[in-house]
Amino acid sequence: MRRIEYELMRPPDIVKERDRVPLAFVPIGPLEWHGPHLPLGTDGLHAHEVAVEVARRIGGIVLPTYFVGTETVRLNDQQAQGLAVLGFNGTERVVGMDFPEFPVKSLYFEEGVFAVTVREILRLLKADGYKLVVIVNGHGAVNHQRTLRRLAAEESERPTVRVEYTMAFLPGAPPLSDPGHAEKIETSLMMAMRPELVDVASLPPTDVPLRYRDYGVVDGKAFDGNPTPDFTLRREADPRDAAPDLGRKVLNAEVDRLAEIVSAHLRSMGLGNRD
Ligand SMILES: [Zn+2]
Repeated sequence: MRRIEYELMRPPDIVKERDRVPLAFVPIGPLEWHGPHLPLGTDGLHAHEVAVEVARRIGGIVLPTYFVGTETVRLNDQQAQGLAVLGFNGTERVVGMDFPEFPVKSLYFEEGVFAVTVREILRLLKADGYKLVVIVNGHGAVNHQRTLRRLAAEESERPTVRVEYTMAFLPGAPPLSDPGHAEKIETSLMMAMRPELVDVASLPPTDVPLRYRDYGVVDGKAFDGNPTPDFTLRREADPRDAAPDLGRKVLNAEVDRLAEIVSAHLRSMGLGNRD
């Protein structure tokens, strides 16, 4: 089987694949609190898995995962992703998913440093002849996504070089937009990819409701501005109901979607896969 992970490839293989299709994927996600039951690298591991499967299907190489990401202070308002929708009283200082009681802090980069870091890898790939660079993002923070979109736009040199921002997750069915955090789908994805890294038993028994602020497990509806009245996780999003089959199904759909998007970019740039 063709090697796809850049750090494992030797120069002749890299040159051969780049001549065939000058396409590079850059998976990105922070080291971030994902409840007691998921590893800190969940977002990046997810992005990497999707990128590798897409590259296996349509060509290109995958950079090692950049375990970097940014977040910011949650505002005290009823807006999406604000403090109030998570059940805080408004006086707490919360950055991203680092809620006051958690024993481990996420390693969020300051937004500007994050941008500089990601820009550098985009610049280097362009200098080495890649014509289509695809950022595959696994993290939902608003400022993180905005930064990556900006970099993609700024580093594109149309029509010959393009940087495209993509999300590993499937888009929410409108009016929903947020994929939630460490909930059933994300836990199922990790069970499908790396079951040995998941420990659902570290959450309380299933009859105990999970308060958003106690575990940092949040349904997408709450992040979208519509929490439950008692700020506990919706049953439909409960990670204690996660299953590897569900994760595999979602993963396949994510790969199908991204493969289609990237293939369309290649076609529009006249870089069709030359076998
Ligand atoms: Zn995540």
